[in-house]
Amino acid sequence: MDQKISVMKFGGTSVGDADCIKRAASIVIDAARTGPLVVVVSAMSGITNRLIDAAHASANGETNAAGALAATLRDQHVAAIKILVSGQEAASQLTVEIEKIIGEVEDLCRGTALLRELTPRALDSISSAGERLSARLLAQAICELGCHAKAVDATELIVTDNTSGRAEPLTVETRQRTITRLTPLLESHSVPVVTGFVGATTEGTLTTLGRGGSDYSATILGAALDAGEVIIWTDVDGVLTADPRLVPDARTLQEISYNEAAELAYFGAKVLHPKTLRPVSEAGIPVWIRNSFAPERPGTQITTTGHPTARGVKAITAIGDVSLITVGGRGIVGVLGVAARTFTAAATAQANVLLISQSSSENDICFIINSVDEARTVAELRRAFAFDLAHKEVEHISVDSDIAIVAVVGDRMRGMPGIAGRTFSVLGRRGINIIAIAQGSSEYNVSFVVQAGSMRDAVQSLHSEFGLQRPADRVE
Ligand code: ASP
Ligand code: MG
Repeated sequence: MDQKISVMKFGGTSVGDADCIKRAASIVIDAARTGPLVVVVSAMSGITNRLIDAAHASANGETNAAGALAATLRDQHVAAIKILVSGQEAASQLTVEIEKIIGEVEDLCRGTALLRELTPRALDSISSAGERLSARLLAQAICELGCHAKAVDATELIVTDNTSGRAEPLTVETRQRTITRLTPLLESHSVPVVTGFVGATTEGTLTTLGRGGSDYSATILGAALDAGEVIIWTDVDGVLTADPRLVPDARTLQEISYNEAAELAYFGAKVLHPKTLRPVSEAGIPVWIRNSFAPERPGTQITTTGHPTARGVKAITAIGDVSLITVGGRGIVGVLGVAARTFTAAATAQANVLLISQSSSENDICFIINSVDEARTVAELRRAFAFDLAHKEVEHISVDSDIAIVAVVGDRMRGMPGIAGRTFSVLGRRGINIIAIAQGSSEYNVSFVVQAGSMRDAVQSLHSEFGLQRPADRVE
């Protein structure tokens, strides 16, 4: 194939109902006129949650869950077929396919309810049904606009390890299968519409890539096909300089680097699945974030260099709903292994650690986790340090959940003196107290912890200090 392939992914809201699917189909048609195209699709918005809830309800023995789920799926998808498909024959053929998938999920839920046990494999099969349904709807909607399209199950393309619920792709096998399966379709000018979120092991067992994993599917396929670009169509204009609910004059960033995007994905700006950029960053394949509800807007492009700007800072992000845990006391000074035991306890509690800070006096170690993990983590720490607490080696394990993390993010902050200084001067002037500070040695991110009530003020004042409401001058 001479021309580079484009991969386009549509998120759940971008295919949320018949109108959205039509809009997505017309975006596909426009792009398919200019070159080869592979489409990846999420489940209609809300469907994956619905499927997972029904799976768990079934495991609790709720025998009605299967039927109720089938009714919801039928309502939403069959209603869309009526609007999207004009021909009688095409409509009834698609309805048969959709009913077959719904029937399979219903059977799986009934089986789960009978056994009162939800195996990871059954959960993978149930939760992936939304994509099987939406891919068929979108493929037919594209056909309706006069272009060939075919729904393809990613189980035929993406080969993964066998970790249920968060499988990882096997690059070599995936590339080989993807090329073999998709090349004939592309050569016959048909648009493959691939189910996001799923893959299969070498033995053919279905797996899923983790919640929100369709973004990851798109870049996995982009890398496998040496694509020229991957476009993630969603319901926002791109990556912003700050959360617009906190900063009304936040702007859409024109271009950011893979590193910046990864920091932003991690810290609050939940535009992308965190693993999305892994498959494409090495090959330098650009990724676009664009709004399917406003396709005339340019969106944000993610590249290797990411439009470096003189001011260094690209965005200010913040996350609430986090808890600060401190393990402290004079007894931990100079004692080896306290940090290791602390983080082993956090790992045992399956808590993801978002930020770590320890002053060199070693009087305490503090770290931040999502508040949902707080109770489990504290219990685990108390267990791990029971002996030390009893002997007052560790004096306290304390928790503060009324806090937020604010981060200043930008590639060019690296080696640029003064950014931390300006950051903390602004906060000082605003009378915002800083509870803890962390800067990774990557220097893409300076993060600090403030009281939750100061989060908005901190983000707003930093946003204006670094002039992020104005377009940036580019530097090379
Ligand atoms: N439908 C899946 C989810 O909701 C995958 C995705 O939307 O990317 O997690
Ligand atoms: Mg989604």
